[in-house]
Amino acid sequence: IPVDPFDLVIFGGTGDLAIGKILPALFRRWRAGQIPEDARVIGAARADLDDDSYRALVAGALAPEVGAGGDLDGFLGILEYRRIDVGEAAGWPDLAARLAGSGDRVQAFYFSVAPGLYGALAERLQAHGLAGAGTRVVVEKPFGSDLASARTLNRDLAAHFDEGQIYRIDHYLGKETVQNLMAVRFGNMLFEPLWNSQYVDHIQITVAETVGVGGRGAYYDGAGAMRDMVQNHLMQLLCLIAMEPPARFAPDELRDEKLKVIRALDPVLPHHIVRGQYEQEGDGYRAAVGNPRSRTESYIALKTHISNWRWAGTPFYLRTGKRLVARSSVINVMFKDAPHSIFGAEAGRHANVLSIRLQPNEGITLKVTIKEPGPGGMRLVDVPLDMSFAEALAAEDHDRPDAYERLIMDVIRGNQTLFMRGDEVEAAWAWTDPIIAGWEARGDVPKPYDNGSTGPGDAELLMQRDGRRWQGIK
Ligand code: NAD
Repeated sequence: IPVDPFDLVIFGGTGDLAIGKILPALFRRWRAGQIPEDARVIGAARADLDDDSYRALVAGALAPEVGAGGDLDGFLGILEYRRIDVGEAAGWPDLAARLAGSGDRVQAFYFSVAPGLYGALAERLQAHGLAGAGTRVVVEKPFGSDLASARTLNRDLAAHFDEGQIYRIDHYLGKETVQNLMAVRFGNMLFEPLWNSQYVDHIQITVAETVGVGGRGAYYDGAGAMRDMVQNHLMQLLCLIAMEPPARFAPDELRDEKLKVIRALDPVLPHHIVRGQYEQEGDGYRAAVGNPRSRTESYIALKTHISNWRWAGTPFYLRTGKRLVARSSVINVMFKDAPHSIFGAEAGRHANVLSIRLQPNEGITLKVTIKEPGPGGMRLVDVPLDMSFAEALAAEDHDRPDAYERLIMDVIRGNQTLFMRGDEVEAAWAWTDPIIAGWEARGDVPKPYDNGSTGPGDAELLMQRDGRRWQGIK
């Protein structure tokens, strides 16, 4: 279904995010017929380009996507470019003139620039009459580096825009499986009655990457895995797993419930945190960031609890790291053993596991116990009830939008359900800050782990001490 005609201005339109994620996503939605022909996408950045050279830049970046014989011209036709430096007055009147008189078209501004520019950008938009009530602004992570800086960003944006106009992207929320998690939880009778500490032994959330810090070393070394991944992505997954059923699938209903989860999170004890740094001769983390004494973690595992009726006593184990053995994002809901085995000790222990896989191969698997086929007596075996979305849905929808496609279209439609609200982000930092302050005060040094491993051994111990173990990353 096509969205309404819109003007989308991408500040930072020549940057990695715009070229690598936003424009390819727009192109795919264009190809799917969702973007109307009179939409306008205006790249704005400091580079000295014009419409044609910008289109050439974008065409080059999209070439692999388009493939031989593919048609890009239609999409390039909706692209324009404006040279604008947020710190300078030039270019703004021209942009304002271009956007003037577009009637009731949706107007959105994507702040694909460093967060340090958000305040100035919002001010400029206001000064040039571009911050009207219908305007939407889109911002990306990192939304601050602690509670104080997140508050400043929220305040700077709130000076010119209402909360209902601000779309804070966490692209994990745009993933098909994440939404399916809500469908599975709240669309079935089967799971929700068991979704509590009485039946769930613990929950594991793993986001493993095979890549290192790449070209983001300078930023990353000032952030680390806790700020870069846990405060936002893992926190959002935890919220969706743990929240109470919202009354409706609607922005504030959902975000109210997520906020309650964050506020109920316990502080994390020092011995429930394992920090790591990947290490290899000549190819380790410290070499990658050019800081031989760096104490920033490229891996973190931690255990936390949610102090409410539903989850009291159920640990949540979170881990994420770079340069690990496989790329895998998965939530495992580990159910308790059956209270009594009628099959005797030799049948072994079996427990249900609901695995929600975000990548690769998005899908949901329920591990159930059945009788081992054959004449061998009553032997039990675990088998997966597998719902791979690629297979299950392939026939109906070849063109399933990825996270960025979905979220950008949600901005145009004015649907904030899958975006973070300002108070959520602040609450997440309020939980994160003392954890980081704690290890800084202790002078904690991350444990080395080998490139291509599953992380530091201490993360295994974190589980073993509780008589549990991580599900495999691969
Ligand atoms: P980048 O350095 O590649 O691009 C920055 C862009 O901002 C360029 O187009 C540049 O011309 C423009 N710019 C810089 N200063 C400007 C100014 N004063 N006025 C106008 N334009 C200016 O950065 P990026 O990787 O595209 O990231 C942009 C933002 O998105 C950052 O906050 C980053 O942390 C965040 N982010 C990026 C990614 C990613 O995949 N690259 C993912 C998530 C979040």
